[in-house]
Amino acid sequence: MIRKIAVLPGDGIGAEVAQGAVEILQAAAHRFGHHFHFQYGEIGGTAIDNTGNPLPEETVELCKNSDAVLLGAVGGPKWDKQPPHLRPERGLLKIRNDLQLYANLRPVSLHSSLSESSPLKKEVIEGTDLLIVRELTGGLYFGKPSERTTYEGKEAVVDTLFYQKEEIERIIELSFEIAGKRNKKVTSVDKANVLESSRVWRETAEEVAKKYPDIELTHMLVDNAAMQLIKNPRQFDVVVTENMFGDILSDEASVLTGSLGMLPSASISASGPHLYEPIHGSAPDIAGKNTANPLGMILSAASMLRLSFGLEEEAQAIEKAVSDVLENGSRTADLAHSGKETLGTREMIAEIKTSLLDQEAIANIMGAYA
Ligand code: NAD
Repeated sequence: MIRKIAVLPGDGIGAEVAQGAVEILQAAAHRFGHHFHFQYGEIGGTAIDNTGNPLPEETVELCKNSDAVLLGAVGGPKWDKQPPHLRPERGLLKIRNDLQLYANLRPVSLHSSLSESSPLKKEVIEGTDLLIVRELTGGLYFGKPSERTTYEGKEAVVDTLFYQKEEIERIIELSFEIAGKRNKKVTSVDKANVLESSRVWRETAEEVAKKYPDIELTHMLVDNAAMQLIKNPRQFDVVVTENMFGDILSDEASVLTGSLGMLPSASISASGPHLYEPIHGSAPDIAGKNTANPLGMILSAASMLRLSFGLEEEAQAIEKAVSDVLENGSRTADLAHSGKETLGTREMIAEIKTSLLDQEAIANIMGAYA
């Protein structure tokens, strides 16, 4: 298979972990006989420094002409005081909009060897396997007006929560489709006791549910969902929610499994290439120190092989390499208990690569003796 992959490393640890994903994909391509062509584009603070624009037009074109996009992370204190249109995060919001990335899928499952790294008790966290489906192009983050203003002669501020009904239908339908391939449960999270937008969200979920009689729909208020994720995460299968609730809940869910650095995500496009990124940010506190955990980014690359290219065996091979390396006790600093030996980012990437290629060697030996 020949595929074009756009790589947008971004800022901070983005470049360190994106390099890991590229190396692992190259190893997978070598093992399974594919050709992946990587082309790099700028986004975020680095793009502001080099071009004056958090998302240069060339980057958008590169992505649109690729089969899939890999993104590291954007942002950092260097650009925190920039005006809103010149902030790194603006590049992120714009690429979501330009590529029509309407759904962000964040799986949260526990690697059994990491149960000790979770802040929750082993008996609470074990068996957790949920997927948060977050709406990505509407809600408070895109509604207009979003500005400082005056009200009755005094300083005021407004942000707008805006959704078209069809945007709500689209994301809820997607979550039902996915639940059909999992454990057939959808939890729709809203704030219907307060917000009109949530009442429309809830009604829409009920309407969509009629088309999927074999899937169980439950509604949960967002404040309760935040609590239930800690109290009993095993109760969830697919959780679908609007943009800002999803942003917050998925970060909360991410630490249940041990570290923000572990979790991949996939952003699904309505028409163009999908985008894959770890859920963490640019982690300026550890950038350039070779201590970032590259596994969220590497697992995002595995999702890319599965969802964009239909390469299930290759995706599973990468996921197995990650599990095996964790099983063997290898840990980056964010996962290790204090006093235990840790691996740097580059060393962890090298271990995953070796494990991935060793699987091939073992398969060849087994083949020779079969
Ligand atoms: P963050 O995710 O960058 O970091 C939070 C904490 O987790 C930090 O202590 C960091 O060291 C740690 N961490 C994150 N990823 C890690 C990894 N792979 N390995 C080990 N430790 C890791 O969130 P933040 O500190 O709130 O934000 C920093 C910058 O990133 C901000 O500018 C923010 O706007 C940006 N950000 C970008 C994205 C994105 O690009 N998608 C997402 C979130 C935050």
